[in-house]
Amino acid sequence: MKELQVAGFLDNSLVNGKGLRAVLFLSGCNHHCPGCHNVAMQGFDYGEKANIKDIVKRVESNMPLIKGITFSGGEPFEQAENLSELAYLLKKEGLNIWCYTGYTFEYIIEHLDKNNGWKELLDNIDILVDGRFEMDKYSHHLKYKGSSNQRIIDVKESVLLKHIILYEEV
Ligand code: SF4
Repeated sequence: MKELQVAGFLDNSLVNGKGLRAVLFLSGCNHHCPGCHNVAMQGFDYGEKANIKDIVKRVESNMPLIKGITFSGGEPFEQAENLSELAYLLKKEGLNIWCYTGYTFEYIIEHLDKNNGWKELLDNIDILVDGRFEMDKYSHHLKYKGSSNQRIIDVKESVLLKHIILYEEV
C-alpha cells in the first residue's frame, strides 16, 4: 500500500472547511509564499511517512461524527499520485473532500495531463480552495481562506459548466 509524507493530522476540526471534518496536512511545498502560515511544512521530508490504509482506518474511527476530510499543507498536489488513491478510498466511504492548494484552478486544469495523479485527485475533490497566500490581501475576517485572492471553488459544478463556480454556502 502506498505512503504519504504527512506533516500533521487533526481528527476533527471546524475551521478547515464546512462542517466537522478530519484534516490531513501534506508535507512539501514549492510556492514559498511570503508570510506562509507554516514554513516548516514546506519541507518535503518534514513529518513522517504514513500508510494510506492506516490513514483510512484512522478517519473511519471518527465516522459518522465527521462528514468530510480536508487536505492541506504544504501543497497537496505535490503528492497527487498517492493522495489521489486516498481521496478515492475516502470518497467511497461517502466523505466530502476539501483541498487547499497554492496552484490556481486554471493552472491545475491546464496541467492535468502533465502531472501524475492530478486528474485523479481533482476527480475526487468536491471543494478546492485555490491560490497562493498573498500577505497584502490577508484578512482575519475571511472564512476558510487566508487572503482574498483565494477562491472557494465547487469543483464538480466548475468542471461540468466549464467555468469557475464559487461555493456559496460558506
Ligand atoms: S502554498 Fe501554503 S504551504 Fe505553500 S508556501 Fe504558500 S502558504 Fe505556505
